[in-house]
Amino acid sequence: MPRLRAMLLVGRRIERLERHGKQLAIVAERGGPVLIVHLGMTGQLLYLARGESAAREDHIHVRWIFGDEAQGASLLFRDQRRFGRITPAASMADLLAQEWSRLGPDALRVRAADLAASLSRTTRSIKAALLDQEIIAGIGNIYADETLYHAGLHPLTPAHSLTRPQVHSLSAAIRTVLNRAVRAGGTTLRDYVDGNGQAGKHRANLLVYDRAGLPCPVCGKPLIASVVAQRTTTFCHQCQPPVPSTIRPHRG
Ligand SMILES: [Zn+2]
Repeated sequence: MPRLRAMLLVGRRIERLERHGKQLAIVAERGGPVLIVHLGMTGQLLYLARGESAAREDHIHVRWIFGDEAQGASLLFRDQRRFGRITPAASMADLLAQEWSRLGPDALRVRAADLAASLSRTTRSIKAALLDQEIIAGIGNIYADETLYHAGLHPLTPAHSLTRPQVHSLSAAIRTVLNRAVRAGGTTLRDYVDGNGQAGKHRANLLVYDRAGLPCPVCGKPLIASVVAQRTTTFCHQCQPPVPSTIRPHRG
């Protein structure tokens, strides 16, 4: 129990928050330990001011109380389906040297040159590459589909075959799509809420995700759903035309 309390930063003062991809780091002061929070599918971090109570009391796994127990504000980690996780690291330096060193560049800050270098290392489809956190960190299924639509790229295009202009338009599309989603508070499909309990408003802005059979907003052809990288993938056959495979069969 004392070890668990130490891992959860009990008694520590929080210095700052850092984020890389889908992971949030709560950093204790003076080079102290770090708590890494991954919300997964249904995780929520909820901040409650003094005297405020949670809209729902179920599925709360951790409750931190700031300052005086009787009067302090609190932070809750709530997770219905339990795909989220909380893991400790000894320090920010340790986290950067270990777990975060395996992640690709952060999607909101990635430069086209770094993205090109990452993508050149895999022959998998661009859809699979965008979902691979070791190639680029921070993109899930919704934003992968929206990004590829924005960039006019077929989801099955081999990642290493993208031309320089295609990588440039992809990296611009990633920033556009993610920044727009962040400004709208994220995408709430069912029950996602931010730290203040607000649902995201980005769902109304989605152009392809979960819209199979509906007309493409640009050309009007029905959007197609298929399974790519084991995930449902929605795209427009007209605006994201398939490219002939650049992989040549081996000879002799
Ligand atoms: Zn279209």
